[in-house]
Order: sequence, then structure tokens, then C-alpha cells
Amino acid sequence: MLELRGVTVRYGAVRALEDLSLRAEPGGITAILGANGAGKSSLMRAVSGIAPVVGGSVLLDGQDITGLPAPARAKLGIAHAMEGRRLFRQLTVEDNLKLAWSFGARRVALPASLAEIYDRFPILKEKARTPAGLLSGGQQQMVILSCTTIRSPRCLLLDEPSLGLAPIIVQQIYGFITDYAARSGITVVIAEQMATLALKVSRHCLVLRRGRVVLQGPSAELLQGSDGKALAASYL
Ligand code: ATP
Repeated sequence: MLELRGVTVRYGAVRALEDLSLRAEPGGITAILGANGAGKSSLMRAVSGIAPVVGGSVLLDGQDITGLPAPARAKLGIAHAMEGRRLFRQLTVEDNLKLAWSFGARRVALPASLAEIYDRFPILKEKARTPAGLLSGGQQQMVILSCTTIRSPRCLLLDEPSLGLAPIIVQQIYGFITDYAARSGITVVIAEQMATLALKVSRHCLVLRRGRVVLQGPSAELLQGSDGKALAASYL
């Protein structure tokens, strides 16, 4: 389980997160919603160790990891797919996957890991020898997701996986994420601007506005209940 207790993130004078608390349980998706600049990426960065956390604590399965640098957190099993599709563009698709696997827990052998990914995303098998930078946006997102899951993480952070993708690709990507969350039983946290989509796939949801939680609860309730109005208002 991932827990944040009163976490504050500041970039100089900018308060990106203020006294934020959260419990993300394993075996389901926790969605972080909010408009541009609400603090979603800062929350994810606070967990993976790349945000300037000036207060509060971050715990993974009860272990306080607040003082650990990012590489140590990655070793503990925190995988962070950042906004903006960061991958090794000159390396082939398969080399990206192999590299990610080599940095992971290696619980499943490499050939089986690759076979599973190619089974799920056949296009990546076709493009296995192609430099990742030459792939379409949707295909690159498939590589990034595969690079995070091939590491057998304990906690997966996905920052706006649907950003800039065609609806059909978004469906495919979210199909993969929901299957993976159910199958792996790990903690999955997704930051997303597409609120309805995120509420549909997640179990629990937090809405941020200006670095604070303005709404939270079971996603099904937020999707159906009168909180819909509050949800819409938080985007204003
Ligand atoms: P987006 O969807 O646009 O990425 P977000 O909800 O992820 O938005 P953050 O990126 O966490 O929000 O930004 C929260 C606040 O912190 C914003 O006001 C943003 O301008 C500011 N911020 C983010 N990164 C930095 C930085 N490196 N230096 C200064 N301010 C920053």
C-alpha cells in the first residue's frame, strides 16, 4: 500500500502540494484528477522521489521512504511513467524493454516477459527492431507502459497515460492498465485529466485543486452521485 501523510511540495515560492494525505490500496486503481497545474504530477513526483518535498512523509507498505533518493525508491519497486512519453528514442523497442527489465525485480524471465508484452500489443512485436522514437504516440505509450510493467513493480504511477492519444488507442491503453491492475494485485495510481474515464476504471479517486484535495471517495459514487457538480466545479 502507498500512503502519503501531510505531504507538501514547493518549487521555490510555488506551492504545488499542500498537506496532502492519501492511501492507495493494492489490487485496484486510485485516480488523481484535477485541471492543469492542480498538482497531479507533483504528487507522483513526491512518491518517486523527484519532487522537492518539504513536509510530510511517504510510506510504501508501511516503510517510510521519504528520505530515500529516487534510484533507491525505484529499487524498492516504485515505477513512474512520467508525462510526456520519456523513453530511449534511439534504442529499438526491444532494447527499451530489455533495459527496463534489467532494472526491475526480474521475477519473470526475459523471454517470457517479452512474449507476454508482444501478445498484449502485437504491434510492438512488429516494431521490435524499430527505434522507439520513430513510433506513433500511441505505440510509444504502449512501450512506456510495457517498460514499467516489465519491471514487476510494487507500485505503478502513471501520469496522464491518455494525453494526446486517439480515443481508440486510449481504450486499448486503459484496457491494458485495468487488466494489469487486477492481475498483478499491485498499487496503481493514475493522474488523469479525463475525469469520466478515470472514474470508470478506478476504485478510489481524489480530486486536486491548487495542490489540495477538494473531493475524494469511491469512484463509483463520484461518478453517479451529486458530487458530479463538485467535481465539475473543481476544474474551474
Ligand atoms: P499538468 O497536467 O499541467 O502537468 P498537474 O496537475 O500535474 O498539471 P503540476 O505539474 O504538479 O500540476 O504543477 C503544480 C504547480 O506547480 C503548478 O502551479 C505548476 O506551475 C508548478 N510547477 C510544477 N513544476 C514546477 C517546477 N519545476 N518549477 C516551478 N513550478 C512548478
